[in-house]
Amino acid sequence: MRNEEMLLIPGPTPVVDSIYDAMASETRGHTDPRFVAIYKNAIEQTREMLQTDGDVFVVAGSGTIAMEMALVNTVAAGEKILVVSQGYFGDRFIKLGQAFGIEVDVLQSEWGKQVTPEEVEAKLVEGHYKAVTITHADTSTGVAADLEALVPIVKKHGALVILDGVCATAAMEEDMSKTYGHPDYKIDVILTGSQKAIGVPPGLAIVAFNKTALAAREKIERVPAYYCDIYNWIPVMNDPSKYFATPPVNLIYAYNEGMRLVHAEGLPTRIIRHTAFGKAVRAALSEYGMKAIADENVAASTLSCILYPEGVGDSEFRATLGKKGVIVAGSLAHLAGKAFRIGHMGNTTEEMLEQAIELIGDTLNEMGHSVDSAKAVQRFKQEVRVGV
Ligand SMILES: *Cc1c(COP(=O)(O)O)cnc(C)c1O
Repeated sequence: MRNEEMLLIPGPTPVVDSIYDAMASETRGHTDPRFVAIYKNAIEQTREMLQTDGDVFVVAGSGTIAMEMALVNTVAAGEKILVVSQGYFGDRFIKLGQAFGIEVDVLQSEWGKQVTPEEVEAKLVEGHYKAVTITHADTSTGVAADLEALVPIVKKHGALVILDGVCATAAMEEDMSKTYGHPDYKIDVILTGSQKAIGVPPGLAIVAFNKTALAAREKIERVPAYYCDIYNWIPVMNDPSKYFATPPVNLIYAYNEGMRLVHAEGLPTRIIRHTAFGKAVRAALSEYGMKAIADENVAASTLSCILYPEGVGDSEFRATLGKKGVIVAGSLAHLAGKAFRIGHMGNTTEEMLEQAIELIGDTLNEMGHSVDSAKAVQRFKQEVRVGV
């Protein structure tokens, strides 16, 4: 890999050479048949990944545009949504809804914990919600949502399930053909970005709507958006030689290769690999006295938010580790300075994580916190094997 550093933040994530190579291919016109074929293939591969019977959209924009696209095409101004929030990115739906005149109710968990199915059920019984937003893996806390429990409750009450998969899609199970206890209980909308568990550089928003979600769009008279109105994009997604707004040609090359890699590995294998990575990284770091803020049974497989042991300063730790070539992220909101976040998703490999564990140990030792990195590496190797 030509990368000089290990980018172990919760997105963007490590990009492999074949993706860089694809991205560096000659820029062609967006209606050039050679590009159109690649765009078409990228859309097809996305449809296959998410298994939707509806429409998928792959457009320029970050994950936040994908969130906006998901919301404004399903919920009209004056209608109500329930935001199930397990951290900073869950909360983002509050502001987003408010920006479009949508009524927003929120269930916030304590950071590191899940919102319980009982809390969601109690809210849904109370009032009529058009949709419920769920963040699959909240990138601020490393907490995963329990879809098995939540999807049936939301669907039973007739609301749409909008799933934010930005830190989960292609690494955790997201299957729009899957039924959750009843033939009609399915995930209605999945949104994601290119730069996290998919492992492509940032810049693409990816959204999938099932038939129920498309029917919700039909009922909205005027979507308060132009770029984000899916009706402007459906003709392009059906026939990428059509023009609405210029697609990011080189990013589509990269994404097409990223999707190829996802399918070459296979989704079931990817899901198992990520589960093993999450468990092994957290187990290894616990050897250093570092604890994840999420309990293991609710922890996401794609990233972990790790509390510093007493006396380890955030900026010194990340700067020292960074000089060794491992980049991890700080934490958000009230956890800033108290925890760091490490991504273990996408194209990240076992070898990279093993090396990162060792270098984290070296960093702690240099900072005067005596730890046994050989033991932690050993623990990583054991746990990652158990998982795989
Ligand atoms: C990163 C992230 C977002 C925002 O995506 P951007 O590409 O930064 O706009 C939204 N939701 C989750 C869960 C994320 O991890």
